[in-house]
Amino acid sequence: MAVDLLDAPLRISWDICPPGQSPLNRQQLLLVADQLSAAGVFFVTLEEAPLAHPEIQGLLEALRQGGCQVSLLSKVSPAELEVLAQLGSDFNLFVDVDRFCSAGQLDAPALATALKQVQQTHADPALLWTPSRGQLALLPELLKFCSHQQVSRLKLPNQKIGVNPKKSQLDNLPDCTDLGELEKSIAAGDLPARNGLQLEVHDLFLWELLQPLTGGQRSEYGGCQAANSLGHISVAAELFPCSSWPEPLGSLLENELLDLWQSASRLQIREAIQQVPVGCDGCRDYQVCFGGCRGLSRFCRTDDLGRDLLCAERR
Ligand code: SF4
Repeated sequence: MAVDLLDAPLRISWDICPPGQSPLNRQQLLLVADQLSAAGVFFVTLEEAPLAHPEIQGLLEALRQGGCQVSLLSKVSPAELEVLAQLGSDFNLFVDVDRFCSAGQLDAPALATALKQVQQTHADPALLWTPSRGQLALLPELLKFCSHQQVSRLKLPNQKIGVNPKKSQLDNLPDCTDLGELEKSIAAGDLPARNGLQLEVHDLFLWELLQPLTGGQRSEYGGCQAANSLGHISVAAELFPCSSWPEPLGSLLENELLDLWQSASRLQIREAIQQVPVGCDGCRDYQVCFGGCRGLSRFCRTDDLGRDLLCAERR
């Protein structure tokens, strides 16, 4: 795999206020925001209840002034709606679909209500969904929902496993069986028309299945981007290679981001990603896929195959 080694990540996800964990204070938040701006990070996504942080407005202003394009994830609680009403619209807002999916069902009426509430405070909110095991088959229904509600953008990001993933959490990640179920459903004609929807799909295998809706175009893919164009920041300001790679590179309260991005730990991770996984050896599509998501395959597979969790077999 030949991928340019970047001096700084382009995209960062950042956990702001996860329930039960101590958030950074204002000074610490702004210090990290300064680091992101100084490193030239283009896209910053604030996750894990960012609207619950009392300094969210100051953080948004600091990131915007530093040239970062900011996205923010909301579960649309009454408290979050109150904060949203104060913040203006100078950021991309994603409604987290997760809480509207349970027991194998999408609660479309509740999601529609939440969407309408958000639309009163923010123009054109998008949806974001990270499906758990057994849920991928709900995707056609979610796509139909987007079409009926004229949602303009749906994002299916990478599977986040956090800093200390628990076994139960890892057992809950979708695998190739889920992908097979979705494939059957699509073959049965369950995909709606694209209807202007902008669909962003992180996972290559999912993207392949959804090509009729993604327009057949995928931005240039050079393989797993952990510790290269992607990075993640925990609530404690630890920098990670990606939200799917739970090995910290160091604290942004004590180190410069640019130094951590040149550290031996980061370079070793990139070297590991350059290696062809055992389970991909001889696959005809390796030059297209490069083994998929290496963080999940490294930390979540129970065999030593090392290939993407959604990949059933070599091609
Ligand atoms: S075996 Fe699967 S993950 Fe590996 S390169 Fe082939 S298609 Fe990709």
